[in-house]
Amino acid sequence: MINQNETILIVEDDSQIHNFIAYILKQEGFSCFIAKSAQNAMAVLLSQKIDLMILDMGLPDLDGMEVIRKVREWSEMPIIVVSARDQDKDKVSALDAGADDYLTKPFSAAELMARIRVLIRHLHQTVKSSAQPVISVGELSIDFEKRQVFLKGETLHVTPLEYNLLSLFFRNIGKVLTTQFILKEIYGIGYGTDTQALRALMAGLRRKIEPVPARPRYILTEIGVGYRLVDE
Ligand code: CA
Repeated sequence: MINQNETILIVEDDSQIHNFIAYILKQEGFSCFIAKSAQNAMAVLLSQKIDLMILDMGLPDLDGMEVIRKVREWSEMPIIVVSARDQDKDKVSALDAGADDYLTKPFSAAELMARIRVLIRHLHQTVKSSAQPVISVGELSIDFEKRQVFLKGETLHVTPLEYNLLSLFFRNIGKVLTTQFILKEIYGIGYGTDTQALRALMAGLRRKIEPVPARPRYILTEIGVGYRLVDE
């Protein structure tokens, strides 16, 4: 249900890749701009109204990470990182710097569109959700006002930590959250490295919400990166 009025900036120096992305976006009805360097991207961002940015990490003039940091100083626009480096640490650093999602090259048109749809849908929901205390994903619902969780319409008993974890996911439906980010949000800065605690907390929560905890359908593991609540 994308109304396709969005304008997307593609920051990518490889012409084969930016032509491919631009072709897909135009077919889907988006307007788009192409920037071949970080400097070029900044110029477009300052002169045009951009709704979402697709960013290559390896640019000729500046690391993609620096672009994310600069943009985050003044904008919350969704950023999808496209990286040839398939190492997990790069994805994690990009997400921690403020990117919303990532794709590893090579990726398909369908994959790219799925990620864009999630982020654009949330763009439109941001205003609505503050007036909407109950949000559902599948048979799982959360009531932010009452701090309650429901599964198949029945109250689900969760601990305060489990509630905080789940509400963090519900505030970021469809987005991958890094382990580091979750730890900071749930336990505060001092516990930033206790991944064991998070794993235990996640296992407990999954036993309560997942029909088959070993094969989660709600909160998926992004190996080496973090977790994602599915967007249904
Ligand atoms: Ca590149």
